[in-house]
This record gives sequence, structure tokens and C-alpha cells, in this order.
Amino acid sequence: MTKILLTNSVKPYPTDPWNETMTDGTAQRFTKGQDIFTINIHAHCHANHLLAQNISIPSEVLEYPTWEIFTAKIKEEYDYVGISFFPMHMDNVLRMCKYIRKESPATKIILGSYGGQSFASTFDEEEAKEYADYVCLGEGIQFLRDLLGEPTDAPIEERLLPKCGGTVSWLDKRPKGSAGFLISGLGCAGGCDFCSTTQLYGQKRHQLLSGRQVAEEIKRYRRVYPDLQQVMVIEEDHFRVPEHLLEIGEELRREPEYLADIDYLTFGSTGNIQKFADKYGWEELALTGVGVLFIGLESKFAGEHGYDKRADGESKEVFKNLHNIGIRTIGAWMCGWDFHDRTNIQEDLEWMISLNPTYYQLTRVSPFPGTPFWKRAKEENRLLDVPWEDVHFWSGAHKAANFEGHELLDFIERGYEKLYETWGASITNKTFVHLNGYRFCRNAKSEILRDHKSQYHKKIAASLYPFIGACERFAPNGRVRRRMFKLEEFYRETLGEPTKSQRLLANYLARRAAKGKKWEEKDPQNRHPRDEICKLYRYDKNQGEMSDTSFPYEVEYPERGLPFYAYKLGQTLTRRKLGAVSGIVQAVSKVYATEDIDEILGRRLQNGAFSTGF
Ligand code: SF4
Repeated sequence: MTKILLTNSVKPYPTDPWNETMTDGTAQRFTKGQDIFTINIHAHCHANHLLAQNISIPSEVLEYPTWEIFTAKIKEEYDYVGISFFPMHMDNVLRMCKYIRKESPATKIILGSYGGQSFASTFDEEEAKEYADYVCLGEGIQFLRDLLGEPTDAPIEERLLPKCGGTVSWLDKRPKGSAGFLISGLGCAGGCDFCSTTQLYGQKRHQLLSGRQVAEEIKRYRRVYPDLQQVMVIEEDHFRVPEHLLEIGEELRREPEYLADIDYLTFGSTGNIQKFADKYGWEELALTGVGVLFIGLESKFAGEHGYDKRADGESKEVFKNLHNIGIRTIGAWMCGWDFHDRTNIQEDLEWMISLNPTYYQLTRVSPFPGTPFWKRAKEENRLLDVPWEDVHFWSGAHKAANFEGHELLDFIERGYEKLYETWGASITNKTFVHLNGYRFCRNAKSEILRDHKSQYHKKIAASLYPFIGACERFAPNGRVRRRMFKLEEFYRETLGEPTKSQRLLANYLARRAAKGKKWEEKDPQNRHPRDEICKLYRYDKNQGEMSDTSFPYEVEYPERGLPFYAYKLGQTLTRRKLGAVSGIVQAVSKVYATEDIDEILGRRLQNGAFSTGF
């Protein structure tokens, strides 16, 4: 039987310019700079799970291996080892390849993902052969099936990919998963010259799951995990394929009770979102079940410089309308364009801030190897020689036309600070949007929005209410403090007086936040950039008939040693502590009880749902 191991790079991983872990996109990007309200998440290496689920032979998926675990696995003499990685992990991966070549010379090595693209673009053929037998450029399932002699047109399935979860670190450093994951489409026809995604997938979209499949898997997640809040659906610019989005909505609405319990994150661009709204209306957008949109804005001036995915001027309206109907946003902005000078860069940043994105990502225009932007920078002799570990979203690998590298990092850092000093923490931005969503749905024409979707907004806003006090207590300035008082008022006007359990929990969170604040001053988090704990998933494919809720894999924890035991101990103690708090909240809610909100709050907490989601 052919043996295959799918892995990512060995640890430890490089950090970003602020010494933060790059395996946690939420802390390091979407909620960066929010003091003690930055959200930490744990994430998984989903690309390898997707491959393992869609080949017919048994396989193993190794996540975040140490060198010792990786080398021990290689001694098992696999026929194939596939390494999916990012460019910044190149040095680690080359070392892994050399080790495989030496210790298990018959093993064929496959490199893939954005790291594979960088490898293929920078190593010549002879050199490349020393390290790898194959580089997968493009959609990996077809590639791997073809390599293994399996039918390439067999249906694609995704089932219960491992969950991610996140919350503030002073509550839970390693929160239980509260969000599922699906990859419904890869690639994008947008063709933006800096974008690795459009380059890797040949400037087109490859559909992996139909809208119906996405909706079915969202429902399955919910049946298996009754307190799951969200599923992240990877689909670049989903609004280029509105029929797919509409199909997800239609299928979810067949059992509308799901809309009261779960939503999903997907991707969009303001131009295409506006087109969708013009054609179908904003209410139809709410009916698709979308909860969060990652929106690549790039820059206020992007439209004038050939990035036609949005028409200038409309972004403010789009963001406002999305927030009004209960959809949260992740706004992504970049600096260091050739058209940026010392005047318009500030105007651009202020424009970005004015959109009030719920979450945000500020990065530097970076030349990822293989993209047209990288090729142009190379021709113009503007590529700088930086180590692979610095090839990422804040890369200094490119000489900007009008700025020094450190100035751009300053703009980014200052941008994060200004976003926080203007709007406060994302947890409270999110609460505002859910309250808007509740009001919108209660007044909507659609009965489904009125009866079901409104309940989702109510539950999430109620479970976030207890954070408002802590965000007020530790607000960065009086403006944000006032905003917190306004939020409290808005909550009362929309959902009524908070219950005794909510107030009790608010009290508890304010005290924990005070401890968190002291701790952060004493020992800042970026002193200890976190690496994930290693996990091994076995896909044995011999389970026979699977029930609706059975898993296609079994999980093992191969890591031992201090980091692992500290992780396990920390997790156990935190679960106990939070379990006790949720027990008290539930008891209070039983005594006074009454409100459905109390019951929901207690149950969510019991299930580790201090996780905040997006
Ligand atoms: S629209 Fe977004 S995903 Fe598509 S090519 Fe442009 S940057 Fe990439």
C-alpha cells in the first residue's frame, strides 16, 4: 500500500517585524494593536486535510511538527512526503527536504502552496531536483490524484475539518475551537499583479464545493458541535460568483432554524458586493447567511491604478450598508504602492480608518516570488536581498518608490493604533454590528430574517455584552470610553436590560481584564511568540459506512516535553476555571431566570464559548 505523509514546515517559525507569531492571523493581523483586547486564535493546516480527505489511500497529516517528530516520522519510509508551506518557511523546508533525501532516498518529495510557488520561481531546474521531485502549482487535489493514479474527476468532499477558536489571552490562551472551516473555491479571476492566489491558480477560480455542499457541511458542523458559532468559507471574491452564494443561502433556508445558530465568513470586494446589492438587494445578501466579509480594499486610490475590482468612492457606502444589516467586515489595506507619496499615504490611511472595519489587516505591498509584481520588481532591479524568513506581508524585499522600509512599518503600526484609538476593540465593533443586525432583521420583509436570523444576532450580542465593561474600563482614551457607554445604551435600547448573569459575568471579565492588563505590562505577549502544539491526524479510510456525524480522522498528540505539558496543564486549569464560572452563571440564571439569554450564555460558556469568533 502506498504510504503518504502530508505536513507543514517544522517549528520554530519566524516571527513578524513586531516579534509576533505568524501562525495566528487574528492576533497578528485582524485585531493587532488592541492592547489586552487583541484576540488570539489557534489555526490548523487545512490544505493538507483537504488533500487527505480527497485521495482514496490512507494518509497522515502532521501539523506543526518539531524537528524530532518530523525526523522520527521520516524513518517510517513513506512513498511520498508532501510539504505545504509559506515562503517564510523556505529555509526550514529545504532542511526537511535534505533530511528526507539522506534518510529515506526512495521517498518522493512534493512541495506545494505559496511556498511551492516561491520555490519554483527562484530555484533553477537542476537545483530544484536536489530538494524536490514535484512542485504542485495550482489546485492540489487533481495534482495528487493524478500522481497517485486515481480518477481526477471523482467528487470532492470536505468533512469536519478541524476547528479554529479564539479569544482574549487573559481569559483563555488556547481556547476551544468555535469556528469550522471549508474551502469552497480556490483562485480568483481578478488577476491583481501582487496577488499570489490569482497567480498560483492560473488566474481562474477552481470550484471545490457547490453552494449546496457548503450549506450541508455548515449544517453538519452545527449538528456535531451544537455551540459552533461560525464556519470560515475560503472563496476568493465570492461575489464574482453570486449564483454560488445565492445557492448557499437557498440551501440554508430550507432549514431556517440553522440561521438562528450559525453564520459564515467569506471574501468579497466592494465593487462586486455593490453589484450584488444593486441586482438582488441588501436583504437578499442577509438571506445568504453570510456573517463576515474579508474585503481586500488595497487602497483608496487602487481603482485609479488599474485595480478595477472596486469603483472609487463607494467603499464607505458598502461598509455602512453591510454593518447596518449585521455583516461584520475585515478591511484589508496596503501601503508602499508606487503611487503612495508622503501626502496621499496619510489620506489613504485616514480613509481606511473612516470605514470603521470591524476587523482589519494593514500590510505592505510585497513582492511574492512568481507574481507579475515580483517579476517587474526584478526587472527594475528593485528586489532587495532579504532572508526567506522575511518574505511575508510586511516584507522588506522590495524598494518602495517613495519610502524607506521602516517608514512603511511605522505607518502600519500607527494605523493599527489609530484604528483602536478611534473605534475601540473589535469585540465591541462586532457587538455594534450584531445589534444593528438584530434591528434590521426584526424589521425585514423576510419572515426568515425576522424569526430566525434576528435570533442569531441577539444571541451573539448577548454573549458579547459582558465584554463592554472591561473595554470601557481599559479604553485607550475618552473618545473610545464614550463609545463604550453609547454601546451599552444601544444594547439596552435594542435588547433590553442586561440580565443578572450578564452583569455577573461582566464583573468577572472586568476583574480578569485588570489582571490581564497588569500581566501585559509586566510580561508583554510579544516576548513569547507562540508556536502551535504538534498534532497528527490519521486518515485510515477503513471506517466503512460513515454516519452523519462521524469523523474521517483520528487525532494524536505526538509532542512531549515541557511545552506540551505546559500546554495541557494550562488548558486543563483554564477549562476548570471557566467551567466553574459558567456553572455560577447558569445557577444564577436558574434562580432568577428567565431570560432565554441567560440559558444561552451559560450553555455557550460551558462549551468553551468564551471564544469570540468573527
Ligand atoms: S480580487 Fe483579491 S483574490 Fe482576486 S486577484 Fe485581486 S487581490 Fe487576488
